[in-house]
Amino acid sequence: MSLENQIRNWMQGKEEELVTALAPLIAAESTLGEAKPGMPFGEGLAKALEEALALAKAWGFRAENIDGYVGTADLSNCPDGLHVLAHLDVVGAGTGWDTPPYRLIRQGDLIFGRGVDDDKGPLVAVLLAMRCIRELGVPLSKNVKLIMGTDEETGSRDLAYYYASHPYAPYALSPDSVFPVTNVEKACYAPKFSKKWVATANSISINGGIRKNVAPSNCSAEGIPCDRETLTKAIQTVREKTGVSFECIQMDDSWKISAMGKAAHASTPNEGNNAITAMLELLSMLPLPEGSEKETIVSLHQLFPHGDHHGQALGIAMEDDVAGKTTVTLSLLHMDNQGFEAQFDARLSLAATEENTAQAVYTQFSTLGWDCHGTFHPAHVVDGDSDFIRTLISCYETFSGNVGYCESMGGSTYVHNVPGGVAFGAGEHGFDSHLHGPNERARISQLLKTSEIYAAAIAALCR
Ligand SMILES: [Zn+2]
Repeated sequence: MSLENQIRNWMQGKEEELVTALAPLIAAESTLGEAKPGMPFGEGLAKALEEALALAKAWGFRAENIDGYVGTADLSNCPDGLHVLAHLDVVGAGTGWDTPPYRLIRQGDLIFGRGVDDDKGPLVAVLLAMRCIRELGVPLSKNVKLIMGTDEETGSRDLAYYYASHPYAPYALSPDSVFPVTNVEKACYAPKFSKKWVATANSISINGGIRKNVAPSNCSAEGIPCDRETLTKAIQTVREKTGVSFECIQMDDSWKISAMGKAAHASTPNEGNNAITAMLELLSMLPLPEGSEKETIVSLHQLFPHGDHHGQALGIAMEDDVAGKTTVTLSLLHMDNQGFEAQFDARLSLAATEENTAQAVYTQFSTLGWDCHGTFHPAHVVDGDSDFIRTLISCYETFSGNVGYCESMGGSTYVHNVPGGVAFGAGEHGFDSHLHGPNERARISQLLKTSEIYAAAIAALCR
């Protein structure tokens, strides 16, 4: 029988076993907590790690707790050929759940609970794939090590700790994204910039945005002096042009204005509608008093015009065939009568360098007297034509029945800092897992498919 069919047969009827193995991991409330001895990320993570190591041992693997930072499970005693990186930490449950978030609930092919998709379900699926290969007796000359991390959502200090004293493997995969293969993660540059000035008599203030990596849905401005007619006309013009809506409240002799746009991840600003840049467009049309505030509003509007998602005005628009276009999102702005602070988040084309991007921005901001601090984080690129990637795509195609391909993303995955690593599964495009939201879900059939694909990849990469 072909290995393909052996793997398919072995996975038959494993639904119950997968769900039973996953349930105690979901029950561990593994959000970042206060550090304690041997528990660098708190008790919840320590509990999840203990459960995961117990499962690995119960399934017959050599398993080790690396100082509470990661757990490892090894398929054999051979030298490492492949590292698979999955994580046990989860983002907080938040509100809006129809079922208890830290209890695995099954409804037919669907399972619900925090972490069933990100990333505990895929972690168990990979462990099952390792068991499949061992029980089928597939001869391997290289080891597979499953690295079970505990800090993916909050900075990946777990991997930094592990790899500070352990070598990288020739190949690395992470089932913490979607199939087929993500082999390019854009470079990013998200500087903070600011200027202080001597307190003016103007009382204009602006506040917009919540996080640097989110295109802002809200921005408010206070102390805006203007007659009603001029303001109404300007708002109508900007609303028609941008689609952002505005609300105004008249204070004594000025206005408080709120802009309502649409939030989106900073790597896909075109999916949102930036309330800060719309507010800047509106304010730059109004007869504001001369001074640092007005000067700054005009400059910010020129450098970040509404709808310029690619940094054209900033002079850093670039494009390549692999990673695509640079995207730019002005995500945070605070201004009062003593100065301003702002931050933009750029995800960069592979044509971008420290010189033509970070330096170019720095030079422009300096001429305006603005301070600018930020680090250029290089892109992560793995050759899409390599044997490694061809193997992954072929395994994916065999078991999914879909056409495989490589893709690039603006965000970064768990393997961003692991040389040669790629994100491989475990979700599918088109299935909404409610990632990081209430009612997170996964399909059991998709998890078992992931196990099949990983089993085939292990057999091919570690022969
Ligand atoms: Zn994740």
